[in-house]
Amino acid sequence: MKYIIGTRGSKLALVQAKYVQKKMKEAYPEDEYELKIISTKGDQIQDRPLNQIGAKGLFVKEIEDQILNDQIQIGVHSMKDMPAYPEEGLCFTRAWKREDPRDVLILREAKSLSSLREHAVIGTGSKRRAFQLMAMRPDLQIVDIRGNVDTRLRKMQEQKLDGIVLAAAGLKRLGLEEVITQYLDDEEMIHAPAQGILAIEIKADHTELERKLDVLADPDTNEEAIAERGFLAEIGGDCHIPVGAACRKAEDGSFELHAMYGNEDGSRIAFSHQKGNNPKELAKCAAKEIRRKIAGNVALVGAGPGDPGLITRKGLEAIQKADCIIYDRLAAPELLAEADPECERIYVGKENHHHTMPQERINELLVEKAMQYEHVVRLKGGDVYVFGRGGEEGIFLKEHGVPFTVIPGITSAIAGPAYAGIPITHRGISNGFHVVTAHSRKDELSDLDFASMAKSKETKVFLMGLSVLKTLMDKLMEAKMPSDTPVAVISNATCCAQKTSIGTIADIADKAKKDGIVSPALIVVGDVVNLRDELDFFENGPLFGKHYLVPKIGTGESKLTRLLKKQGAVVDEVTVGEIVSKQLTFRKEELQSVDWMIFTSRNGVTSFFESLYSSGLDTRALGNVKIAAVGNATAKVLKDYGICADFIPLQHDGTSLAEAMKEKVCDTDRIWYLKAENARDHLSELLEQFCHIRAIDVYENMTVPFDTKIKQQTYRQYDALLFTCASSAERVLGGWKTDQLKELPECISIGPQCTKALKELGVKHIRQASDAGYENMMDLLLE
Ligand code: SAH
Repeated sequence: MKYIIGTRGSKLALVQAKYVQKKMKEAYPEDEYELKIISTKGDQIQDRPLNQIGAKGLFVKEIEDQILNDQIQIGVHSMKDMPAYPEEGLCFTRAWKREDPRDVLILREAKSLSSLREHAVIGTGSKRRAFQLMAMRPDLQIVDIRGNVDTRLRKMQEQKLDGIVLAAAGLKRLGLEEVITQYLDDEEMIHAPAQGILAIEIKADHTELERKLDVLADPDTNEEAIAERGFLAEIGGDCHIPVGAACRKAEDGSFELHAMYGNEDGSRIAFSHQKGNNPKELAKCAAKEIRRKIAGNVALVGAGPGDPGLITRKGLEAIQKADCIIYDRLAAPELLAEADPECERIYVGKENHHHTMPQERINELLVEKAMQYEHVVRLKGGDVYVFGRGGEEGIFLKEHGVPFTVIPGITSAIAGPAYAGIPITHRGISNGFHVVTAHSRKDELSDLDFASMAKSKETKVFLMGLSVLKTLMDKLMEAKMPSDTPVAVISNATCCAQKTSIGTIADIADKAKKDGIVSPALIVVGDVVNLRDELDFFENGPLFGKHYLVPKIGTGESKLTRLLKKQGAVVDEVTVGEIVSKQLTFRKEELQSVDWMIFTSRNGVTSFFESLYSSGLDTRALGNVKIAAVGNATAKVLKDYGICADFIPLQHDGTSLAEAMKEKVCDTDRIWYLKAENARDHLSELLEQFCHIRAIDVYENMTVPFDTKIKQQTYRQYDALLFTCASSAERVLGGWKTDQLKELPECISIGPQCTKALKELGVKHIRQASDAGYENMMDLLLE
């Protein structure tokens, strides 16, 4: 047979490949072994540090591809550079006898680590080596150094470094043993997993070749490799994470494993020392011990059933301090918005039965992230243990030495019926309840005891049962439950989109379909359903089922949205602008000469005070100034700054203000009008006619690019669009064609300026609030 051995072209790689070639030829003289040099991406990129390129398998991919394509049969690499698992379709053969696995110091002048001068400079590109060196000699200065053995030796001289760290194996293979100053043993410096071992990679199904190579393996080295690489696989992480593992066979035949792990910045480092007979077990125990020492906490948090208000205080606190949130499909995205902007958010949700990520992978992810972060939150709908697989996650974390806590949540099984006006128990009607899943592990109707259910008077709640609703009800009837037993199916419970369908076990399947019940939904069976007429408090809100779009300026839920939701409406918000205060400087004398200040918005007030304070002044500088405020909201913010407005026009618009001001000022009065830059209003013009007015831009309402999904969404789905300023109207509807505008639902406008803008844009159906203010917009909708 002829076999082609692929290798990189570096000196060391060639020595290693030739070694394999030689050994094979000796063992199988009848075969032919040819070397083929393959250039990898890592060899071609010379100008950047490798950790900036970040691609995995940088020095092996081209070689592996050629094995997979049968261009070559064997790839030779250093095992310490290989990822924990081989590429699909490939395998590593059993390990051959390892070369000296230790790391060594090469010192330019000193004779040993301990005799190195204080603050000596040592070159290494490996965090594992750097962290361990620093542990021994915290005074050392570590500098990054890269390249092959020759390059590093040269750099040490050129850059006058005091020393460098290298692997003994490479130096010995290159015949450079004499440059070594000091060997570092396992207690001092734990080497990389499988250092000194060759990785011989072949196609996974090439059994004949595998057998030939395995004959040459060294059983002890192979066991050591299993322990060291087993640790690497267990502990996870990528090439940026410092991981070390050194396993030795002791004289009594047992194995000893020294392992270390540090996080990326070196702020957390842990070591483990294990002894035993089973290398795999040693790897597991070492990983577990290290995790126990440095893993952060995983909080399994119940997010509640949907309404974002239904999370516990503890749950919310956990979200707020989380470094990473791993979350399911939640009815309440608002909860994620509570997290720190830096917090890593990972969606692992489950859409019906299509799991985005298998549970096993979620478990591993939790462990991985706990190694990376202090506070990990696993956020789940409802309660974590009510069909939430929280138990499985807890067990897995415990097994892996990762601490966890549980913050229970309000389960949809109880809160869902409550929001539909159905108490889960009621004296005299139901003195207990069953919460059951309608799906078993295998996604079939679970083995439920329908006979006893049919007999009992207790409430039955089925989760995950919508798709088998009909079968469930048939089974209950077959089990002799009276066919007129009341049933409710509640979808999107506790959310604005909640919908409830009511029927009996005989007809609910049809009714739910007709009512358009969608997942997630739960089923409640029992006489308590009849109490809904008296106890419904949620779905009977005056705006329940209405759907509005609220374009807004700035982040955070707008007050208008809160008011709408309180009445049961579903609201989509879209941010179309943000408020940016101007940085102005005021002088005290200049302020003292002002007779009146006019504020027409809350932002005007807050922006003005920001500038006032940053000018080194405070409210006292306004001692002589009279203040006019348009709108109660504006007046209220002024009050927060300790100022009661002298005048608030009854009608909340500029024209009324100008009219009224005419009576109050004389033509020598100095009037400041604190406004938004580019604001569309005619107040200045009106006032100029009879007094000395100075309009000052204290803030700007800047356009922010908004979600084009909402932009392009069919606006028809909304019952109305609610505009609270002219600029929102222009930003949302600017550029719409007449026929597009025809499709537009009614627009609710906050006041005359906004209405004017809408009209100019060509909007036809406009209703304007009787007076500016969110409450007045609400009145309009509630009419
Ligand atoms: N741990 C969750 C339940 C997870 S099982 C809890 O305690 O609520 C998922 C099932 O819960 C869904 O199939 C559905 O039956 C039910 N469910 C969850 N949230 C719901 C909601 N807002 N409305 C209706 N059913 C819901």
